[in-house]
Amino acid sequence: MKTQVSLIRCLSYQPDLVRESVKRGLSLLGGISAFIKPKSKVLVKPNLLMAKQPEYAITTHPEVVRAVLRLLKEINCKIIVGDGPSVWGYQAENSDNVYDLTGIKKVCLEEEVELVKFEKRRWHGKFPLTTWIDECDHIVNVPKFKTHGLTILTAALKNLFGLISGTYKTELHKNYFKPEDFAKAIVDIYEKAKPDLTIVDGIVALEGDGPATAGKIRPTGLLLAGADCVALDSVLTMIMGLKPLDILVTKEAVARGLGIADIDNISILGDHLKTFMDKPFILPTTSIQQKMISPIIMKFVKKLIRYYPAVEMSNCIKCQTCVKACPTKAIRLIKKGIVFDYSKCIACFCCQELCPASAIKTKKSLFAKMIGL
Ligand code: SF4
Ligand code: SF4
Repeated sequence: MKTQVSLIRCLSYQPDLVRESVKRGLSLLGGISAFIKPKSKVLVKPNLLMAKQPEYAITTHPEVVRAVLRLLKEINCKIIVGDGPSVWGYQAENSDNVYDLTGIKKVCLEEEVELVKFEKRRWHGKFPLTTWIDECDHIVNVPKFKTHGLTILTAALKNLFGLISGTYKTELHKNYFKPEDFAKAIVDIYEKAKPDLTIVDGIVALEGDGPATAGKIRPTGLLLAGADCVALDSVLTMIMGLKPLDILVTKEAVARGLGIADIDNISILGDHLKTFMDKPFILPTTSIQQKMISPIIMKFVKKLIRYYPAVEMSNCIKCQTCVKACPTKAIRLIKKGIVFDYSKCIACFCCQELCPASAIKTKKSLFAKMIGL
């Protein structure tokens, strides 16, 4: 049998429109109770990467979260909302500030729903995940559709990285900085904490050097729902203008038999996929290395094709977030500004992801430029 997802056109965050669209998407799949048991305890996990307002399109829009909360309330669930925002060095970003600026705190207050922090953790295999997943019967994943320097796409599967409690994210970036290793880590988390339902906020997405301030806003006007995170990410990958298996996280999940990436085996209910595929996404600069080069050529030239962070001092506000975020301590602030020690840099791009001022750009090695990457 084909795996089912629903794809709904929704052109704005006008609250009634979002609620109607989310409801329509889930009705096509049998309604919310086809996924979530009435009266159960549910963890709702949006993407709350950093303290930025919803219009930056870095975090899940609060109206999408509200629509999900309303449906869960209709079936009398006990709801908890939370996320593990980004980490600077060994200090988690101030969750109160993140919850405030992203609009999630306001929505939770208005909907009388508990908003929690991911402070306590329990080890699940190699990863310390929030204990809230042990305390809840279901996880409802509400990711944002964005590009990502390390994984190309961040949506259904990558959003689960936020289940990692607090400061361990820095360790993970340090130990799993190669895209193929990071992909395995994400899929390990998916195996341990599989959401029962995922609703992707793609009403306004990010393209280019996402997933944060260096990305470009891209209105895509869509909501996508289903239980199979692999299928959901595969549909989004097609909308970006790529093939599902171009995404290493998807490829790894398929290799482990965790979902369907073959678009012919995904039944897309609602609006037609082709109507969302008008213009390919601008991809992150670093993604070209993963997508374009065949593994055989890659083996020989990999060391020569490199990407580095570089600062645009006119944008830099000298907040030092990048200095704290760097897992290998490759960044310093001196009188002239931010400097990088490239001999220590592992190209994880945590600095770019966390820079609040879009001041960190991607620089290519000479060889990458010479071969036109
Ligand atoms: S580059 Fe970005 S994160 Fe680093 S100091 Fe400047 S503004 Fe802050
Ligand atoms: S300087 Fe290099 S190692 Fe440090 S955060 Fe940036 S990309 Fe990662």
